Amino acid sequence: MTKICVFCGSSDGNHPKYIESAKQLGQELVKRGYGLVYGGASIGTMGAIADSVLASGGDVTGVIPQSIADLEVAHSGLNNLEVVADMHQRKARMMQLADGFISMPGGLGTLEEMFEVLTWSQLGLHKKPSALLNLDGYYDGLLEFLRNTCVQGFSKQAHIDTLAVSPTVAGVLPALMAAPITTISKV
Ligand code: AMP
Repeated sequence: MTKICVFCGSSDGNHPKYIESAKQLGQELVKRGYGLVYGGASIGTMGAIADSVLASGGDVTGVIPQSIADLEVAHSGLNNLEVVADMHQRKARMMQLADGFISMPGGLGTLEEMFEVLTWSQLGLHKKPSALLNLDGYYDGLLEFLRNTCVQGFSKQAHIDTLAVSPTVAGVLPALMAAPITTISKV
């Protein structure tokens, strides 16, 4: 595994801990020898993690659609910035480039990206691991809901379990490395 894709916010969040955790994860990536793949923005926690990896001497690839390069202020200092046609290409390209995926606290875009990776794994379209940084219980409600999708018979526990969960930045890369990949079929 050499490149990790991190999904996170185009916003800062309402507490400094969100930017701080993005900076810490950037440092952890470099310390362990991983490059960063992300959405290419210079704003929010996305910008914070990219700046942190660069400041630590690491490698960053951003993938951004032309249509939102202005909106999210495409980062001008990356090692590689790929400008793609649309959101679909962005996700496909990030999925192709990365060997594993970490989702940090974020908004709808973060969730959308995380769930596409998880559902493609569920369908056997890739065999790359995913982990969630559940900082201070940010995702507790979502994890409870995911359990309910199993209880109600719409998901299999084995598929939900492919998302490794860590409450700490220090723990999220080890959790990713230990994340199970299932071959159990969705249907
Ligand atoms: P957010 O968590 O809402 O701040 O968004 C985080 C990132 O996800 C931003 O770079 C958004 O542009 C991106 N995003 C939102 N929707 C999509 C989508 N459908 N496909 C790819 N990226 C998306």
